[in-house]
Amino acid sequence: MRDAEKVTVGVLALQGAFREHIKAIKRSGHNALEVRTVEQLNEIDGLIIPGGESTTINKLLVKYGFRKALDNFYKSSKPIFGTCAGLIILSKKVTDNKFGLGYIDIIVDRNAYGRQIDSFEEYVDLKKGQNLNGSKFHAVFIRAPKIKEIGRKVEELGSYKNEVVLAREGNVLVCAFHPELTEDLRIHQYFIDMIRKSKYHKKS
Ligand code: GLN
Repeated sequence: MRDAEKVTVGVLALQGAFREHIKAIKRSGHNALEVRTVEQLNEIDGLIIPGGESTTINKLLVKYGFRKALDNFYKSSKPIFGTCAGLIILSKKVTDNKFGLGYIDIIVDRNAYGRQIDSFEEYVDLKKGQNLNGSKFHAVFIRAPKIKEIGRKVEELGSYKNEVVLAREGNVLVCAFHPELTEDLRIHQYFIDMIRKSKYHKKS
């Protein structure tokens, strides 16, 4: 890929599984940046909020002054992708918590899968005709949140047992599982496509 075609994807690196996302972006042939300061948001074309512990990530977001900076990033229409804890952070409402940045109209239950099923691996169905190939994706779920309700404008892109596990509203993409823990790059590539469209056409 020519340098001019590359995008720079930031991965919020305050806590959680950010290194694996960095590797996935690099394997896709693009530039990746570990984001630890608000200023670095100016250097990136799109942002991933990784899995980890949403309460901890949220505290660190407040501590390091990210809340307002992220609002501006979101309003500038640069794409944001949240996986697992990142999905929780981006959602409109979380059933047992006050936070949720409200960038995507979903209501989320943080501990829906219960402590007895800490983690599991399953094949989820990706939607056809969305550059996702419409086939199965090997998904790793780790203390995964469940999307309880989705708003009218939210597009369902992936499902598992009738639950939505991959969804998008505008420039915000969320995933209940961990696509960075498998070799399959389709979901990262989908996000990179969102970035390219927003960057070169100024709308997705
Ligand atoms: N259950 C965790 C939380 O509430 C999310 C787990 C994960 O990101 N793997 O933040």
